[in-house]
Amino acid sequence: MSIISDTLKRIKPSPTIAVTQKARELRAAGKDVIGLGAGEPDFDTPENIKRAAIKAIRGGDTKYTAVDGTPALKKAIIKKFKRENNLNYKIDQITVGTGGKQVLYNTFMATLNKGDEVIIPAPFWVSYPDMVLLAGGKPKIIKCEEKDGFKLTPAKLKKSISKKTKWLILNSPSNPTGAGYTKREIDALAKILIKKKKVNILSDDIYEHIRYDNFKFFTIAQISNLKKRTLTMNGVSKSYAMTGWRIGYAAGPKEIIKAIGKIQSQSTSNPSSVSQAAAVEALNGKQNFIKKRSNAFKLRRDFVVNSLNSIKGINCLKPNGAFYVFPSCKGLLNKKTKLKTDTDFVKKLLEKSNVAVVQGSAFGLDGYFRISYATSMQNLKKAMQRIKTFCANLG
Ligand code: PLP
Repeated sequence: MSIISDTLKRIKPSPTIAVTQKARELRAAGKDVIGLGAGEPDFDTPENIKRAAIKAIRGGDTKYTAVDGTPALKKAIIKKFKRENNLNYKIDQITVGTGGKQVLYNTFMATLNKGDEVIIPAPFWVSYPDMVLLAGGKPKIIKCEEKDGFKLTPAKLKKSISKKTKWLILNSPSNPTGAGYTKREIDALAKILIKKKKVNILSDDIYEHIRYDNFKFFTIAQISNLKKRTLTMNGVSKSYAMTGWRIGYAAGPKEIIKAIGKIQSQSTSNPSSVSQAAAVEALNGKQNFIKKRSNAFKLRRDFVVNSLNSIKGINCLKPNGAFYVFPSCKGLLNKKTKLKTDTDFVKKLLEKSNVAVVQGSAFGLDGYFRISYATSMQNLKKAMQRIKTFCANLG
């Protein structure tokens, strides 16, 4: 009999982390691999944030803190929600965890009973379904098509809600497509949700600050009728290039916030004291670099989208935000190329051309692949050339 639990057997390791690891191994073996799999900015954490962390270490800020975040960080988060989203929260409506990932995991552990359903629009961030499974819930995957910009439509939402629906997850701008929901689109979903009073909404806003072409960010808690059943998750990982510091947070109903803290108190306890001090500076300090970095990402997005669309058999929508594109490779899956699935495409691309991307099926939608363009323009130029040559030589 295996020592591994039945619960763990139901889930799989993160496919995006697996691709990044594979690329790392190939590089270590001497191959010139370009990794376009990782979901983290290639920029460094800004100096003022690093200085705040060093000051915290020197000042002895090195002990346990309150389990769900220091008062200083919670206050900075309250200010952020007011300043950027016009949302008012009290201190007992805020929780801080070791990355947005932990906050989401704790949320599901704290709220799901066996058989409770969580609506997950696909393509989705790879961790949502497995986290739901770990917590004993049931992921209800709703495929969102390219023609709808990979976004959930009101009709699909309506159809997917059942008596067992506990949560709907919204992620805008999205990983893996970069698609952002406009205020109008969120209003249309809200119309349905207002009537379905038992459905809670989990808004994952982690890519809030990485957006282009004056795309206006709007989060569903701004709809006053829904705020009381919305948990808004955000963090410093992507906006402030702080993936390694592991700070994420959420704001929402007191009851849920308290339950998340209870789980944290019996698992990891507080997130790192030093990282919390750094996050205070991130949220309260100067914000001007965010725009500059988004501009750099925009140049890369434009280059990648244009390059991909110039390749026969590949089609790529231009996203509003995040640092991903989600092109279709359906035009290359046929008898001539001997490629049947997106996984075949991705495997062969890595084998023949040393470019690591992630298959769309890992995100719940077949026939696509995800490219993270959070890497240098030089790398992107090389990678696009390789993809072009690879596709031209297929079949
Ligand atoms: N949500 C989405 C959509 C993400 O892409 C990620 C990271 O890749 C996270 C949440 C979690 O980020 P972190 O745990 O670094 O805060």
